[in-house]
Amino acid sequence: RGSLVCVGTGMMLGAHLGPRARRHIEHADVVFVAVSDPLVELWLQQMHPDVRSLQPLYAEDRSRRDTYEAMVDALLTEVRAGRHVVGAFYGHPGVFARAPHAAIAQARAEGFDAVMEPGISAEDCLYADLGIDPGTFGCQHYEASQFMLFQRRIDPSAYLILWQVGLAGDRSLRRTHTSPAERQLLVDLLATDYPLDHEVIAYEAATLPISQVRREHLILATLAHARLEPHTTLVVPPCRPLQPNLALREKLAALDPGNT
Ligand code: SAM
Repeated sequence: RGSLVCVGTGMMLGAHLGPRARRHIEHADVVFVAVSDPLVELWLQQMHPDVRSLQPLYAEDRSRRDTYEAMVDALLTEVRAGRHVVGAFYGHPGVFARAPHAAIAQARAEGFDAVMEPGISAEDCLYADLGIDPGTFGCQHYEASQFMLFQRRIDPSAYLILWQVGLAGDRSLRRTHTSPAERQLLVDLLATDYPLDHEVIAYEAATLPISQVRREHLILATLAHARLEPHTTLVVPPCRPLQPNLALREKLAALDPGNT
């Protein structure tokens, strides 16, 4: 009977793959890979004789929605054929990644065993590289275009992390970059909660042991013209202190006067 495991390879080549994920790869019948770097594919090929790249499914001018569907089809076709299938995705397979969640849900709906094995995501690297603890002030994560296209209530006393900021404002799901004019609309939106001279960070984790982390501090007003790549994550630090909730403090004190 076929089965599916979606594993994360982590962000850095050769450094982040967990032992459970590795064992799944070694014991699979077929391994599909969607990773950020062709070198990572070569590395995985050393662990298994049948490693198939999902990268060609990102054909030019194809909507990413169609690409994700094609990925799910590729994985499920082999599961239905009775194989033990592994989908290896860079970072964490369930973090800002649709295909692995969709493939697992589909496989389960068809009665197959399907599980996800976590990996080290860009988020994990960001906390380490930038020295941020998400528990200190709280931390909000949004996909940049979704953040623009829907009404959100953000808390400027917490960190704000915007994923896919290089694609901010893209509704076609076909582009890898958006224009400065589109990004300016993101700046204008952020400027409703943050001063224009607020410092933000363009972050790129190192994906090879020899490559450098990018942690570029920028002024919010200049963001539209900054270098923002498909793999850039934007970090917006808090711009105001935590506001005490006096009413709730009073209610807690009424329950237990010693609890102050
Ligand atoms: N599943 C991935 C993970 O666990 O990190 C995230 C995939 S999501 C489709 C792509 C987004 O992840 C990028 O637009 C960027 O925000 C972030 N990302 C990917 N690679 C990155 C890197 N090297 N450094 C920082 N952020 C990265």
